[in-house]
Amino acid sequence: MHLNPQPNFCLHCGNALSFGLPDGDSHPRHHCATCGYIHYINPKPIAGTLPIYQGKILLCKRAIHPQRGLWTLPAGFMESEETVEAAAKRETWEEARAKVNLVQPIATISAPHIDQIHHFFLAMITNDDFKPGPESQAVQLVEYNDINWDQLAFSTIYLTLNHFFSELTRCNLQLDELMHSKDWYLKPLSQTIPDHLRKHYLVSKGTDIKTPPNASVSGT
Ligand SMILES: [Zn+2]
Repeated sequence: MHLNPQPNFCLHCGNALSFGLPDGDSHPRHHCATCGYIHYINPKPIAGTLPIYQGKILLCKRAIHPQRGLWTLPAGFMESEETVEAAAKRETWEEARAKVNLVQPIATISAPHIDQIHHFFLAMITNDDFKPGPESQAVQLVEYNDINWDQLAFSTIYLTLNHFFSELTRCNLQLDELMHSKDWYLKPLSQTIPDHLRKHYLVSKGTDIKTPPNASVSGT
């Protein structure tokens, strides 16, 4: 499967494209000797949220392929001329019918092997009538102990949740404290997907999943 199909013909003039280094460029690309068109291939940005409601995280059970039936944070491909913030909010609405206020960036994860970059924001849900959107079978509010770490749909979801709970632990915060105080800032993750998670999807077997520290355990 080609992540980015290569065109054979110029999208402007229809003549055959050649592959090589265009004048003044640093990367070989498909380009047109007739009209000068250069076919650039760039990573696709994905935007999503880690949505919080009443001290719990909202997860969506996917109704569509890939990874149908597994759990995800609401996220998806950005649209043309959209901001990353607007895309994150739109995807949260489309997948979970949840309206959110974005609080802070929580993870930026590069996936160069699939030409993607994933941006997640920590967000607070503002409506109480959220429900599955067309791409979700179900939505569910979860605490740390409810999360089935081997039933997460994508490695970026695993990395984002793992980082979030690690940050709660580092800051000595409980999940339900996030709504009651603004006296906190979680360090955003900036990471490339590590080799052992460098499959297109995280699957339940054969991956080296480490459950993150339990941030929900208090001293009582
Ligand atoms: Zn051309």
